[in-house]
Amino acid sequence: MRILVQKFGGTSLSTDYARNHVIRHIVREQEHGYHIVVVVSAMGRSGDPYATDTLLELVRESGGVIPPRERDLLLGCGEIISAATLCSLLHARGIPTVVLTGGQAGIRTDHGFGQARITSIAPDPIIKHLGEGKVVIVTGFQGATEEGDVTTLGRGGSDTSATAIGAALHAEMVDIYTDVNGILTADPRIVEDARPLSIVSYAEICNMAHLGAKVIHPRAVEVAQQARIPFRVRSTFSEDEGTLVTDLQPIGLSAAVKDRHVTGIAHVSGVTQISVHALDGQNDVQLQVFQAMAKHHISVDFINVTPGGAAYTVFDHDAERALEVLDEIGYKPHAVRGCAKVSVIGGGMNGVPGIMARIVEALTEQGIMILQSADSNTTIWVLVRQEDMAGALRALHNKFELHK
Ligand code: ADP
Ligand code: ASP
Ligand code: MG
Repeated sequence: MRILVQKFGGTSLSTDYARNHVIRHIVREQEHGYHIVVVVSAMGRSGDPYATDTLLELVRESGGVIPPRERDLLLGCGEIISAATLCSLLHARGIPTVVLTGGQAGIRTDHGFGQARITSIAPDPIIKHLGEGKVVIVTGFQGATEEGDVTTLGRGGSDTSATAIGAALHAEMVDIYTDVNGILTADPRIVEDARPLSIVSYAEICNMAHLGAKVIHPRAVEVAQQARIPFRVRSTFSEDEGTLVTDLQPIGLSAAVKDRHVTGIAHVSGVTQISVHALDGQNDVQLQVFQAMAKHHISVDFINVTPGGAAYTVFDHDAERALEVLDEIGYKPHAVRGCAKVSVIGGGMNGVPGIMARIVEALTEQGIMILQSADSNTTIWVLVRQEDMAGALRALHNKFELHK
C-alpha cells in the first residue's frame, strides 16, 4: 500500500475557500495512486469560532480553573469539529471517508495531560479502513491514555500526530500543509523577503523549530528523523512542493548544508534576562541559583556563568517568581524584562571564521545592543531588547543575503 499522510493546519480549514483547496490536494494524490490519511488541526486561529484558543476562552470565566484531564477533553473538540466537517464535504463528493479520534486511531500516550508524549501507535484501525478504500481522517493534537482518557500533545502538536502516524504506517511521505510556501529563511510575518528553503536536513529544521520557527513543531521533526520518514512543509493554497525535510546524506546533499553556512534565522520573544552576582567570598553562586530555579520548576535558558556570577533568561511569565526565589535565598538580582532571543542557524558554520563578526556588524549598523550572546557549532544566539527584535531579524537576514 502506498500511503501518504496529509496534515492540514488551522488556517487551511477555516473557510470554504481553504477547505476546497484541501479537497483538491486529497483528490489529486488519490489520483496519483496513494491511500490517504488526513490529519487535521482545529479550524482557524485565536478568535475564530472553533480554534483551540477560543475553546480555552470558554473556561476563562472560571479563571481557567479546570482539571488537566477535563481541559484536554475540551481542547480535543476543535480537531473533532474540523474532522467531521471535512468528512461531510468529502462524502458530498462521493469520496468514502471515515473519522478516527487520536485514541481510535491507536495513538497511546502517557498521562501528561496538556503535554502528553506518544508512547505507541497501533495503527490497525487506520490500515483496515484504508484497505476498504476510504480516506481516513485522524484528529491531530490528541491521543488517549491506556484508560481511554483524551490527552493533548502540546500546542502545535498536530504536526507531531502527522509524522508519528506517518512513521507507524511506513508512509512514503508526510505533507504538512499550512499558510506559507514552506519553511522560510525567517518568519515572513517579520522578514518580508524571507525565501522558502527547497531541501533541508532534519537537524537544521529541528534546531530552527526549537529556537522558535513556529511553522513546524520540533517534536514532529524528531519523530520523523527517528523513523527516517521524509516530510514536506508546503502551502495549501498553491501547487508548490514547498520544503523537503529529509536525511541529506544518502542523496549526496550533505555538502550543500555545509556550503550554505547560514540556513535561517529564528526568534523567541517574551524573555527576561536575569543577572546575579556572587555574595562576598562565595564560590558556589551558580550551584545555588540553578538548584533554586530547578526546585521551583522554572526553566532557564541562555546560561552564561562566570566566576563572579551568572546571567540567564527565563520566560517573562516566570520572571516575577524567579526574582522572588532569588530574593528569598539572599541575592539582589538584576532583571531586564521584554527581551528576545534571535538565533542564526546553519549546519555549516562550524569553523567558518567571521560569522560572529558579521552578526555584530549587522546589529551595530542598526544601533542594536547585544545584551548577551552564545554559540554552538550550528547556532549563534543573541539576546536583544524586544523593540529591536524585528530590526535585528531583518538586518541579519540581509547581512547573510538569505533572500538570494
Ligand atoms: P498551521 O496552523 O498550519 O500549523 P502555524 O501558524 O502553526 O500554521 O505555522 C505557520 C506560520 O509559521 C506561518 O504563518 C509563519 O508566520 C510562521 N513562521 C515562523 N517562522 C517561520 C519560518 N521560518 N518559515 C515559515 N513560516 C514561519
Ligand atoms: N490546534 C492545536 C493548537 O492550536 C494543535 C495544532 O494546531 O497543531 O495548538
Ligand atoms: Mg502549527
